[in-house]
Amino acid sequence: MDSTKLLYDGKAKQIYATDKENEIIMHYKDDATAGNGAKHDQFAGKGILNHTISGIIFDMLAEAGVKTHLIKKLNDRDDLVRKAEIFPLEVIVRNITTGSFCKRTGCREGLVLETPIFEISYKNDEYGDPLINEYHALAMGLCTLEEYAEIKEETLKINEMLKEFFLRLNLKLVDFKIEFGKTENGEIVLADEISPDSCRLWDVDTNQKYDKDVFRQDIGDLIETYKAVLARMENK
Ligand code: 5GP
Repeated sequence: MDSTKLLYDGKAKQIYATDKENEIIMHYKDDATAGNGAKHDQFAGKGILNHTISGIIFDMLAEAGVKTHLIKKLNDRDDLVRKAEIFPLEVIVRNITTGSFCKRTGCREGLVLETPIFEISYKNDEYGDPLINEYHALAMGLCTLEEYAEIKEETLKINEMLKEFFLRLNLKLVDFKIEFGKTENGEIVLADEISPDSCRLWDVDTNQKYDKDVFRQDIGDLIETYKAVLARMENK
């Protein structure tokens, strides 16, 4: 397998070509960024931790019937995945208020929402991934109405599965971001990763943060935090 051709070098991952047109390799780097790249650091082993955590979650979701891009794990940092055209949307669900939602609305932190909030942002670093709604997405040609409906339905299902999964680890799923892509045969699949980089997780008893906020806010050791999440997953 020719895995040497770098197709894309992202903030936390790289994408490599393979000798098959419809399969690519997703490689997890040790980089951590926050504030749209304003804060950047490297943590030895972070890529391995996120790859392991995300792999467990993707396997759990696939078993529950979610279509994902994952074909198989190749080693401790690389996945073989189906090539998919990624919708330029950050799909976000909030169960408890914090982060940009509180900054934007003035809502207090930590409010447990009666129903989840479904949000989409336009993936565009130059403009700081602005919050948009379905009218913007359709008018800008980012997805079709049918695609939007499928993404929303699948995301809310994933939220329920993830909430339950993390609760068994004594962690509250505060919010998360996921991404979807469209494969060559038109199938919409869950892509990218689900890890403490892309989810906010708070301990049920103490509200201690077990996610990238420890790096964003300089309030803890990122590697120890991610290791603790993985340990809960492995011990459950
Ligand atoms: P917020 O909009 O409050 O900053 O983030 C909401 C949720 O989406 C959080 O769980 C956060 O980790 C995730 N999120 C938002 N933007 C990004 C992003 O650009 N990359 C990653 N990995 N996660 C993001």
